[in-house]
Amino acid sequence: MRILISGAGAAGLCAGIDLARAGHVVEIVERANHLRVNGSPIDVRGDALETAKQMGIVDEIHEHRISMTEQTKFVDRSGAVVASLGTQEINETAEDVELPREDLMIILRQALPEQVDLRFEESIAALVDHGDRVAVTFASGREASYDVVVGADGVHSAVRRLVFGPEGEFAEPLGVYVAIGDASGQESPDGTRVTEILNLPGRFAGIARYRDKALAIFEFRSGPIDYDYHDLAAQKRVLAEAFAGIDDWKVPELLETALCDPELYFDAIALIHMSTWHQGRVVLIGDAAHCATPMAGRGTSLALLGAWTLTEELGRHSDDVEAAFNAYERRQRPHAAAAQEFARGGADLVVPATWEDIEARNARLSATQPL
Ligand SMILES: Cc1cc2nc3c(=O)[nH]c(=O)nc-3n(C[C@H](O)[C@H](O)[C@H](O)COP(=O)(O)OP(=O)(O)OC[C@H]3O[C@@H](n4cnc5c(N)ncnc54)[C@H](O)[C@@H]3O)c2cc1C
Repeated sequence: MRILISGAGAAGLCAGIDLARAGHVVEIVERANHLRVNGSPIDVRGDALETAKQMGIVDEIHEHRISMTEQTKFVDRSGAVVASLGTQEINETAEDVELPREDLMIILRQALPEQVDLRFEESIAALVDHGDRVAVTFASGREASYDVVVGADGVHSAVRRLVFGPEGEFAEPLGVYVAIGDASGQESPDGTRVTEILNLPGRFAGIARYRDKALAIFEFRSGPIDYDYHDLAAQKRVLAEAFAGIDDWKVPELLETALCDPELYFDAIALIHMSTWHQGRVVLIGDAAHCATPMAGRGTSLALLGAWTLTEELGRHSDDVEAAFNAYERRQRPHAAAAQEFARGGADLVVPATWEDIEARNARLSATQPL
């Protein structure tokens, strides 16, 4: 089949690898002008590791694993450690692998078969499903037809909007915004892995250090904010306002360095719920279908699994895409539902709303975790 994938994130690249290896003719369009590899380290967990093995990338994933020995430390306004969280508390099993997002994205990019046509600064502007093919008009004005279109374009998916309806019908905001930016100058001198977090009511400011990298991470609770999520300057204004006037610990310097980062990642944390992930010859995978948010720590694992499952089912039902999509959904839904359930408790752990909640969280952690 001739298959178009919208989005070159983890889901889109995995689908590109799996579908091309299965013999399909694959084109990927990515809206950005380069592969977006930034972000904090991500986890490959459970069944997704088995998928990575079948994809032939599990050894590389292990090679890029970050040391699991360090703990996350919660500090007070002066920087003194008040609670800690071990990696064993976060991981489901000892086999879970955490690696820098940029490393995984590069591993996937390198595994992408040469014959896959990957086009940057391109996106779908319109599509019409004619039953036997999907006619696509691109933002560049180009037109082409495909047997299947895969929407792997993330939480703000354009394919979802064009085929299923506006984002507001499917998004459940969790009332938290996240920003991840560069924190050069805050690196660990010996490359050890240290994460420090300061909580103020409804606010989280932290530094994640691994290898020679340091990232500034901010989260804050808020009702819906009206801004253009494509506009980096607008994202930076929202972040700056949320932390304006906070002089505690290292917040001002972290904010300054993050606001200078041209690759700052900023978004509202929202689950995506859909009653179906496919219509006609169009199907959604990854965050576009079932975003579980960074709170779940499972978005990348879901992306690997979904792309693999879709490819398998298209192979099993080669003359019936509807049957293939139904089978993919049946297998993927339990994984997505479990991840979304996990995300719900995340905000209370990392961004407690009040001083009482912060103290209760710290007391809870201190009862089981040494400082
Ligand atoms: C820059 C970035 C940083 C991230 N950092 C973190 C993190 O630190 N922690 C975490 O848990 N999760 C992070 N995520 C989310 C995480 O990558 C996903 O939850 C998970 O990997 C599932 O991936 P996905 O491919 O479904 O979605 P995404 O990773 O969001 O990838 C979607 C891709 O589609 C592209 N795209 C968007 N719209 C269009 C369009 N209209 N046409 C074509 N392409 C389009 C995007 O540029 C992106 O490359 C980040 C995502 C991005 C894009």
